[in-house]
Amino acid sequence: MNVTLETPLLSLKGVGPKRGADLAQAGLRSVGDLLARFPLRYEDRARFREMAGVRPGETVTVAGTVVSCGMRLTRRAGFKLFEAVVRDPSGAIKAIWLNQPFMANVVARGTDIILYGPADRRDTGPLQITNPQYELPGRRERDAIHTGRIVPIYEKAGCATCRVQRALVYDVVQQLPGDAADVLPAWLRAEMSLPDWRTAVAEAHFPPAGAPLDLLNAFRTPAQVRVILEEFLLFQVGLGLRRRSAAAERKPLVPVIDDRVRAAARAALPFSLTGAQRLALKDVVGDMARPAPMQRLLQGDVGAGKTIVALLAAVVAMENGLQVAFMAPTEILAEQHHQTIRRLLAARPYEVALLTGSTGGADRRRVLDALASGRVQLVVGTHALVQEAVAFARLGLVVVDEQHRFGVMQRAVLTRKGWNPDVLVMTATPIPRTLALTLYGDLDVSVIRELPPGRTPIETRAIPQSRRDEAHALVRRELDAGRQAYIVYPLVEESSKVDVRAATEMADHLASEVFPEYRLALLHGRLRPEEKDRVMRAFAAGEVQVLVSTTVIEVGIDVPNATVMVIEHAERFGLAQLHQLRGRVGRGVQPSACVLLYQEPAGETGAARLRALVETTDGFVLAERDLELRGPGDVFGTRQSGMPTLRSGDLVRDRGIMEQARRLADLALDREPEGALVAEARRSWSGRFGLASVG
Ligand code: ADP
Ligand code: MG
Repeated sequence: MNVTLETPLLSLKGVGPKRGADLAQAGLRSVGDLLARFPLRYEDRARFREMAGVRPGETVTVAGTVVSCGMRLTRRAGFKLFEAVVRDPSGAIKAIWLNQPFMANVVARGTDIILYGPADRRDTGPLQITNPQYELPGRRERDAIHTGRIVPIYEKAGCATCRVQRALVYDVVQQLPGDAADVLPAWLRAEMSLPDWRTAVAEAHFPPAGAPLDLLNAFRTPAQVRVILEEFLLFQVGLGLRRRSAAAERKPLVPVIDDRVRAAARAALPFSLTGAQRLALKDVVGDMARPAPMQRLLQGDVGAGKTIVALLAAVVAMENGLQVAFMAPTEILAEQHHQTIRRLLAARPYEVALLTGSTGGADRRRVLDALASGRVQLVVGTHALVQEAVAFARLGLVVVDEQHRFGVMQRAVLTRKGWNPDVLVMTATPIPRTLALTLYGDLDVSVIRELPPGRTPIETRAIPQSRRDEAHALVRRELDAGRQAYIVYPLVEESSKVDVRAATEMADHLASEVFPEYRLALLHGRLRPEEKDRVMRAFAAGEVQVLVSTTVIEVGIDVPNATVMVIEHAERFGLAQLHQLRGRVGRGVQPSACVLLYQEPAGETGAARLRALVETTDGFVLAERDLELRGPGDVFGTRQSGMPTLRSGDLVRDRGIMEQARRLADLALDREPEGALVAEARRSWSGRFGLASVG
């Protein structure tokens, strides 16, 4: 019988309802699922050893004949041992199976058997292997699959043991049609020296004799690479289709960039741009001058100066008679942008408005009217901009700040309020390049890696909380010099009363015992928005010197006079969050410091995170480090929407392959837009990767 990738596992021999349910629990429903899922690792059980030469401590494969066997009762009630003495021409080894009484039905005197496992010796007793993997070559109807070769090790799924799965995968591989269609074009296979599909699948699970074990366990044999690359290619072809369909769209009005526009932009510029900002701006303006709408991601660390780039793009749009929507994730951030933008554009004739959840009544109606009539050219706002009541006369540019805080849908809704507007999304989450290719693969990316001049590096120290006094002394020194401080206190849950009480008590203690002569304020997520605002404003105005805060300050506050930050329980935070928090200091001309207080022991990854922060302030370096420490699932602190479900590939282990896939996908789309690969991506993309359709 031939199976196809769609064949349900439940219809296979040996898969009953219980086993089927266990496999489904592990995400394995169809033959395709089963084959796409790689072994955890591979073991070389190919070389038979002479029993006489085996030393205790070695893990070996031996082959011989059972000379005696039997069940042995132990002192522990109900605990059964089955033992078999197995002989080869050189010597003997005893095999012991604990609590596997069914072995009595499998093994008898005279049975030929292959054993694999760790050899051991009790005192002067015989050499023994406990719970060995075994195979009965005499009885078998097929090749040895559990021993005597390089063997795949699968993760147990409920009652479906590794052994059960191995047999299942083996059977399925045997039943695959020999002429299965190959979605990879021949030129691509040739260029990458990849085997055909069927060979690749078969060898990824059951490597041929002599396959190098280190390559196998690094998942880099041609067979494995082919399986991973195919998955990544399908993903990247899907993204490529999206990019191409976006590039085929046309803007109703293509902005013109002439001397007048340039002069207007220059007039709004309070400083000269850094080289990195200039390059980013060139990308952005270049996109705007093209007939297809811009789809660009501007990546740049906290404080890299993304806002001004977006603002200059806004000036270009407005000078061309278009409206601009600037969306920020929090009210505070929206207000800060609104103020900055109004200040920079004060001398220009543009109408700028603010629209947030707390813009009420008459104000709100006025802003909505002005947007609909086109009288307001630029609106800064929060999610409030996405609401149905918000309409624009000629929305030509959408800027989304801190993109990772928004869903793809919100971006899409805002974009639809315009008529194919240019879209610029910005993120201070410096995700590694491979992940950018994955998460934002349908966007063009510009990166600002250089910080504006005059920033003094933040000196970071990690010290145990038993030395908290040192941290407070540092804070005092800064306060005495007229500067301000943040003390960050983590809450497990922003909404929990117990947690908030802990933060409140700490703030009270600091105010009355530690810094009695300075003004402190507490900021946490349970404060009402007006209260939060009041606190932030007081701190920004310098009326409050110490801001005790939970992580709500993570995004969006810019107080250059704040030069020191103490983070309590730093071992609890993710690398990303710590990096973002730290970015609140070091924003002025004075040198800044950050103290990471940790509870001992910080744990292995906790300590690694703290060390990374002490060593560098480069967000991109930290992002790579974070990826290594955590794995791709929870990238850089924010569970990212837009992350594909992958079956064979691993975004950390296989990042190099993802980069190749991006390049090859573009080639495939150019050369064979109607080919099998593109057709397969169109057919299966959203189901396969669990993402919204490629359209
Ligand atoms: P982010 O990229 O985090 O959004 P901002 O745009 O808020 O960063 O910029 C951070 C600070 O740096 C702001 O106070 C801004 O005015 C300042 N800044 C940005 N670019 C420059 C520059 N080229 N020269 C001097 N200061 C700059
Ligand atoms: Mg910003």
